[in-house]
Amino acid sequence: MTSALEIRNLHVSVENKPILKGVSLLVKQGEVHALMGPNGTGKSTLAYTLMGHPSYEVTAGQIIFKGIDLLELEADERARLGLFLAFQYPVAIPGVSVANFLRTAINARRRAENPADKGISIPEFRKMLKSKMDLLKVPNDFAGRYLNEGFSGGEKKRAEILQLATLEPEIAVLDETDSGLDIDALRIVAEGVNALTGPKMGTLVITHYQRLLNYIKPQIVHIMLDGRIVETGGPDLALHLEERGYDWVREKHEEGANGR
Ligand code: ADP
Ligand code: MG
Repeated sequence: MTSALEIRNLHVSVENKPILKGVSLLVKQGEVHALMGPNGTGKSTLAYTLMGHPSYEVTAGQIIFKGIDLLELEADERARLGLFLAFQYPVAIPGVSVANFLRTAINARRRAENPADKGISIPEFRKMLKSKMDLLKVPNDFAGRYLNEGFSGGEKKRAEILQLATLEPEIAVLDETDSGLDIDALRIVAEGVNALTGPKMGTLVITHYQRLLNYIKPQIVHIMLDGRIVETGGPDLALHLEERGYDWVREKHEEGANGR
């Protein structure tokens, strides 16, 4: 059975202000979706809501993952079920190496699936980590470094992508916010997503950077405007955005609204 993340008519408020106004989205394993749109339209609100952030209040709608109502679950339970959110662990953890952190996360996920699981053995883990690091062209010494301590923007992204590779989630949501995303970091994310994309992983890449889509080729592109997805299309929609920016989307949909 393929796993899917299904968002149905989602309405979300922050401090009683409605931000998402009826978002519906279906991301299946094996698909790469891009969610784009100008700043302030609610893209990160969607990501935080998926994560279960307490400031984001779901006032209507549903989020279903693997047939389970995600809104009933705590953030860590969502992750253990196989939903990955890139910004889950953004903090530095003194004294915890990247490798140890990844092993703990893998074991938590295995135990969620089978409480009797004894965890991944160290030789098995090392072998797996080495193969993922080779796949992603991560330098050998990276796994021994303390997580996020003194990491550059690019290194943080590298740790995130390595986490994505080792956890093997069914669905990954990557919110590529503007802060500190230089072109190198952008490329690390894109190359990672491209290397990991396959029938077993579905990806929702959130960004307002049209540039990101020069590196990642999504099959499905969505444009969000004022808390709603107003356009959904194929890769040509991304090309269109690159040529014409967001103005045509605004004109089309704001005119439509005024005409009513
Ligand atoms: P995007 O990611 O598309 O740039 P956001 O989801 O970050 O958009 O923001 C959408 C709107 O929600 C903005 O008006 C923003 O000010 C508001 N918002 C988002 N998060 C918060 C928050 N934690 N507190 C107050 N307002 C917020
Ligand atoms: Mg954002």
